[in-house]
Amino acid sequence: MTLQWQEQVSLKPYNTFGIDVKARYFSPAHDDQEVRQALSQAQQHGLPLLVIGGGSNLLLTKDIDAWVLHMASRGRRVLSDDGERVVVEAEAGEPWHPFVQWTLAQGYCGLENLSLIPGTVGAAPMQNVGAYGVEIKDVFVGLTALDRETGALRDFGLAECAFGYRDSLFKRNPGRWLILRVRFALSRTLHARLDYGPVRQRLAEQGVTEPTALAISEAICSIRREKLPDPAELGNAGSFFKNPVVAAAQVERIRAQYPSVVAYPQADGQVKLAAGWLIEQAGWKGYREGDAGVHRLQSLVLVNHGQASGAQMHGLARRIQADILERFGVELEMEPNLY
Ligand code: FAD
Ligand code: NAP
Repeated sequence: MTLQWQEQVSLKPYNTFGIDVKARYFSPAHDDQEVRQALSQAQQHGLPLLVIGGGSNLLLTKDIDAWVLHMASRGRRVLSDDGERVVVEAEAGEPWHPFVQWTLAQGYCGLENLSLIPGTVGAAPMQNVGAYGVEIKDVFVGLTALDRETGALRDFGLAECAFGYRDSLFKRNPGRWLILRVRFALSRTLHARLDYGPVRQRLAEQGVTEPTALAISEAICSIRREKLPDPAELGNAGSFFKNPVVAAAQVERIRAQYPSVVAYPQADGQVKLAAGWLIEQAGWKGYREGDAGVHRLQSLVLVNHGQASGAQMHGLARRIQADILERFGVELEMEPNLY
C-alpha cells in the first residue's frame, strides 16, 4: 500500500492517558512497505521517527516534533502444529487482547493470564508484558524486527531479547528496532498458573473446580474490570511505576516500622516490594491535583480526570517518587515511556 500521512495531528485518541499533544507528522503503517516508506519520509524531513501501537504505555509531555508511525498491520497465523505445541505468529499492529482471545478460541493455552492487557502485539516484547505470574517470555519463541540503523530485517530468538522484569533489549535500546511480528509457542494442554493475586479465589467463587484456559481468562478479566480504570472512561497507562526489587536488609528496615509491608522474595535473594502498597501507605491513594490524580482503588495507577497535561502528570509522578524515597528509602522507576 502507499503511505498516507497528515501534519499536526492530535495524539489524544492515540494514547490511553488522553493527553492532547500534536504530532508534527502522523501516518498509519499497514505493512512492512509502509513502515519503510515512513522511515524514508522521516529521514527526508530530517525528523526522528516515533512508533506507537495502542499508546497504552506512553506519557506524552509535549508536542512531538517527529514522524509518528502508528502500527496498524493486521494478521495472525499458525506456523506449525504438532498436535500439542502450536507456534502462532501475529503482526505488530494486532490488538493484544483480541489476539489472546483468538488463541483461546482455537484451544491454544499459554496467554490466558495476559488477558485484557491493552495495546498491540508488537509492543508486548518491549517491556516483556506480564500479569498474574506470567510474562510473554514464558511463551515467546521469536520476533522479526527492522533494524532502523541498517534497514535490514532481523529475527530474534528468546535468548537474544534479554527479557527481564518489565524489560527487554528493545526497551533498553529505544528507537533501534521496529518490531514487525511476534511468534509464540502455545500448547493444547493447560499448565495453569493460579497462585497469583486473587485468581484461584475468583475461580472458586465462580464455582469453577477444573479451570480451562478460557475460564482463567474470564476470571482475570473480571478481576481486572473491577480493579483497573477503563482508559475509555478515565485516562491512564496502567501501573505507573515498576515494583522495586531491593535488598532483603532494606525490606527488614521497612518492616520494623511497617510490619504489614507487602514483599515477595525473588530467586536471587532480593525482594520485590509492591509499589502500590508503598504509595498507598504514603497517603496518595485517591489524591488529586487539578485533573492529575492517583486512582481511588489502585494507587499504582495515575489517572487523567480530563484535561491534565503530560507535564502535570509527570510532575505528580515526580512528587510521588520523591515522597517514597524520603519515607522508605526506595526509588520508584516509571514504567511508561516518556516523550
Ligand atoms: P505503546 O504505548 O504504543 O508503546 C509503548 C512503547 O513501545 C513505546 O516506547 C513505543 O515506541 C514502543 N513500541 C510500540 N510498538 C512498537 C513496535 N512495533 N516496535 C518497536 N517499538 C514499539 N502492561 C503489562 O505489562 N501488564 C499489564 O497487566 C498491563 N496492564 C495494563 C492495564 C491498563 C489499563 C493499561 C492502560 C496499561 C497496562 N499495561 C500493562 C501497559 C501496556 O498496556 C503494555 O505495556 C502494552 O504492551 C503497551 O502496548 P502499546 O501497543 O499500547 O504500546
Ligand atoms: P495485585 O494482585 O494487587 O498485587 C500487587 C502486586 O503484588 C502486584 O504488582 C504483583 O507484582 C505482586 N504480586 C501479587 N501476587 C504475587 C505473587 N504471588 N508473587 C509475586 N508477586 C505478587 O496487583 P494488581 O495491581 O491487581 O495487578 C495484577 C497483575 O496485573 C499484576 O501481575 C500486575 O503486574 C499486572 N498489571 C500490570 C499493569 C501494568 O501496567 N504493568 C497494570 C495492571 C495490572 P507484579 O506486578 O510484579 O506482577
